[in-house]
Amino acid sequence: MLARVKDVCKRNGLLILSVLSVIVGCLLGFFLRTRRLSQQEISYFQFPGELLMRMLKMLILPLVVSSLMSGLAALDAKTSSRLGIITVTYYLWTTFVAVIVGIIMVSIIHPGGAAQKESTEESGKPIMSSADALLDLIRNMFPANLVEATFKQYRTKSIPIIKSNKAAAESTTRRIIIYGVQDENGSNVQNFALDITPPPEVIYKSEPGTSDGMNVLGIVIFSATMGIMLGRMGNSGVPLVSFCQCLNESVMKIVAVAVWYFPFGIVFLIAGKILEMDDPTAIGKKLGFYAITVVCGLVVHGLFILPMMYFFITKKNPIVFIRGILQALLIALATSSSSATLPITFKCLLENNHVDRRIARFVLPVGATINMDGTALYEAVAAIFIAQVNNYELDFGQIITISITATAASIGAAGIPQAGLVTMVIVLTSVGLPTDDITLIIAVDWALDRFRTMINVLGDALAAGIMAHVCRKEFTKDGDEVPLICETK
Ligand code: ASP
Repeated sequence: MLARVKDVCKRNGLLILSVLSVIVGCLLGFFLRTRRLSQQEISYFQFPGELLMRMLKMLILPLVVSSLMSGLAALDAKTSSRLGIITVTYYLWTTFVAVIVGIIMVSIIHPGGAAQKESTEESGKPIMSSADALLDLIRNMFPANLVEATFKQYRTKSIPIIKSNKAAAESTTRRIIIYGVQDENGSNVQNFALDITPPPEVIYKSEPGTSDGMNVLGIVIFSATMGIMLGRMGNSGVPLVSFCQCLNESVMKIVAVAVWYFPFGIVFLIAGKILEMDDPTAIGKKLGFYAITVVCGLVVHGLFILPMMYFFITKKNPIVFIRGILQALLIALATSSSSATLPITFKCLLENNHVDRRIARFVLPVGATINMDGTALYEAVAAIFIAQVNNYELDFGQIITISITATAASIGAAGIPQAGLVTMVIVLTSVGLPTDDITLIIAVDWALDRFRTMINVLGDALAAGIMAHVCRKEFTKDGDEVPLICETK
């Protein structure tokens, strides 16, 4: 018995440590909240967690470029286009199903009720219009400068412009009434001036701009295209393909070493976030129900629908598969970023679930960029919640519009923390809901972001397992089809 326990601990040591670190992080965070640390003390405390994020982010670029280029170059044109079409179709389908689950949940639970809006402290103007957001998505697919794309993405800026309103525009002068108070002799004791000039109106103008954060979508499109072209070049493409394969293997070796730091980093990442969060008791009832609705939807989609799809297609046990990627799910919970989790998802799929690496190299980076079931579900729930709070009756056509735009908005969201909150503007404006009301859900978004990121990562991993099954005939030959200069395992 003792020997068995020892064996289990030895084989799953890292996973057990990661689970413990999530628990310790939560306990430590709630304990330290009672100590009322200063902002500076909190930032020192968060440092080990910050290091974890930096390590993961450091690995994204070489991993995405090398895996897509070497993965696609290793496939012949027919296989790569078949794999590409099946993968993208599957991604769109599961995202759409997630949106439907979200719509059903929010209609049943009805978290917004016929209630008053709960005010939040933060308030703001829409960051951009829906058309701008869609154009930005397409612009980001074609980065003008590849080097810049590694640290910046295109994001239209809204510049506030103070403009006098119509009445003020008609008269350019200020309208002031002067009146006085007279004493009994009729002479003015005091004069008052009343400015009745109509107040100025603030409008927002869109201007080209950039925002910090890697443009992963642009890098994925470029690397995938390069990979396909390299595959078609035959022998002349071999040196670059071999370089990418070596790069990919070496990044994975770095990941294998770095993972031992992760349980330590997770403790501080989670505890640090708990220290920063607003007082949970201040969250209103409606917002609480909204959060429960999103979590229920994520549970239904992540624990029932996706595993069932996996089971029906592959006839394999989804629980065994999910157990293999538990560590990646914990990293997603700790980091709220599917891009940052990518190196660990790779490691889990290759080492624990034995997914063909040529498939993982294509399916995972594309999935981390465009396949976000959790985000799509949350965007649909949030939009309908905002409609409910505003007593706004949505008709069937508007529900369909929400499901389509929520799918598009999740594709446009980057795999970084709270990216879904930004692309939600697309969903709200598509049905004429007030974009300012995004501020209603900000208070709980940091927590929901963690759960939806877990489902995003789960969706990508299960997709890789399904693709490995569906395309198994094309991938019977072990290893890469391009002769290697660098030996791969
Ligand atoms: N944080 C999510 C992810 O990285 C994106 C989002 O929904 O905000 O997958």
